[in-house]
Amino acid sequence: MPCSITLNTVKAMQFISGFLIFTGVWISTLCYSQNVPIKQASASDYAAPVDIPMLLSGNYGEIRTAHFHSGIDIKTEQVEGKHVLAANAGYVFRIAVHSGGYGKALYLKHPNGQVTVYGHLQQFSPAVDSYVREQQYARKSFEIELYPKANQFSFNRGDVIGLSGNSGNSFGPHLHFEIRDELSVPLNALQYGFSIADKTRPRINWLAVYPLDHQSTVSGASQKLLVPVTCSDATCYIADDCIEAGGNIGLGIETFDFLDYSANECGPYTLAMTFDERQVYMCRIDSIPFSLTSSADSHIDYEEKLKSGRIIQKLYVDPNNPLRIYKVLVNNGIIQIRDSLVHHVSIEVKDTYGNESQLRFTIRGKGTLVQKPKVNNDQIVQKGFRYDTLNVFEDQDIRVVIPRDALFRNLDFQYSRIKNDSCIYSMIHQVHNRYTPLFKPYILSIRPEYLPRALQDKALIANFGKKGEWISQGGTYKGGYVTTKVKEFGDFFVAVDTTNPAIAPVGFNTGDSLEGKQNLSFRITDSLSGISEFAGYIDRKWALFEYDAKNDLLTYVLDDNRLDKNRLHILEIVVTDNKNNAARYRGEFFY
Ligand SMILES: [Zn+2]
Repeated sequence: MPCSITLNTVKAMQFISGFLIFTGVWISTLCYSQNVPIKQASASDYAAPVDIPMLLSGNYGEIRTAHFHSGIDIKTEQVEGKHVLAANAGYVFRIAVHSGGYGKALYLKHPNGQVTVYGHLQQFSPAVDSYVREQQYARKSFEIELYPKANQFSFNRGDVIGLSGNSGNSFGPHLHFEIRDELSVPLNALQYGFSIADKTRPRINWLAVYPLDHQSTVSGASQKLLVPVTCSDATCYIADDCIEAGGNIGLGIETFDFLDYSANECGPYTLAMTFDERQVYMCRIDSIPFSLTSSADSHIDYEEKLKSGRIIQKLYVDPNNPLRIYKVLVNNGIIQIRDSLVHHVSIEVKDTYGNESQLRFTIRGKGTLVQKPKVNNDQIVQKGFRYDTLNVFEDQDIRVVIPRDALFRNLDFQYSRIKNDSCIYSMIHQVHNRYTPLFKPYILSIRPEYLPRALQDKALIANFGKKGEWISQGGTYKGGYVTTKVKEFGDFFVAVDTTNPAIAPVGFNTGDSLEGKQNLSFRITDSLSGISEFAGYIDRKWALFEYDAKNDLLTYVLDDNRLDKNRLHILEIVVTDNKNNAARYRGEFFY
């Protein structure tokens, strides 16, 4: 029973420990007042953007790949084609069509200066749709960004502005809806009075305890400890109630919020931690600008996410994390334990509607380790990098230039190289490791060991994906090096792409009649560098082929307004990859 202690002693010890715990250096101690949320709108600010019940599969601020989700994902009964409504009166301020991202998206500007965003649409309203099509034909481009004049397309609150879909980087029909402020910063849409049922509490699944330096220990070891958490109503606990730790300790939790009638894991709104009854950390996930959103990788335990998929939100903050969501922060959330007392920790998670769960446990102080840092391996080159300066690393055949503020914290940068028979143009350069997140890209240059002149403009830098597949990081050959910008560490090498993209018709043979058909599709793929351009021509004129990148599909919707009917048409498709390898398909169809 190493952690048992009577209640009276606890109180006395808390008094003492209050002095002991925070006597260390107060690194960037921020202590904001408990300021109220950015915008408490009246319930009438916005109307529901759909005419079906608002059930969500995602909420604002939930952690996605290298970003916080900037909107809410509204379920559309698993189908496309539901009405999408103007959440308030306004005009179309921007229209975007992309093969990835938000796909077909509409941006409405409202009299209060705010903008609402409707993403992954199947179709725009007829007037907007024909304007977009006209512009696509005029510019000979499927992908397009348009900023119509104010009031060129105006809508009243509740007007149908389009139909919901699954376009762009969407993996199931839904409407992505955002509210942005005048500076285009996305806000927590759930604060704007929508009628969404939520009496369900956030859940806490895991507690993580981190020894933050070589001297610190958790349960007698110098590795992080992951402890399963059980919740019953609002109360969450860990099996032993008590953890032994000493030195500089960080905590983290995996937590998800849930809305009523929906099993989807959403993100909580606030996380707070008190240590011996003093609040030392409080974060409220709202108004995160797009310029800072990739700091989500610093907010979480990035390595744990890559290794196990668990999303542990850290309750301590990296020194160069630029997010402004941390409203209370004492000693960056780092707990210093330099005694053998029992300390009380409480972690509180709330959602936007005030449902809450609380995890309580104790930490018993335990001595620190006198441990030397790991002995350096001869094969590994090490260098100390600071986050607040430019860092340059050069070795035989490699150059790494990391701009100031690209790192979230100082780094003991490591480098080594290995030979691999499958990579014939260069060694594999092990640039630190993929578990360290970056805020900004850095410049990576690798000198090929062997690269015939004829292949120089086909060269790129690649790394390995999860299944060992090669992933292009782009790059160009110049001055003996292949150089690219990359936003991750890991194992990199020089590869060449000399393979043309592939174009395969889907359910179509040249000469077929398309009478009674709606459209014509082709699967277009590329092996390494990726598709950069595509174009389709019918009767030698540019025609609108829509590209759905996630499904590798290029689709032409048969357009009676642009095709002469009852004749044979000549069809041509050209696809080019990022290394200028081009494929061409020629055929005919009757329509
Ligand atoms: Zn979304």
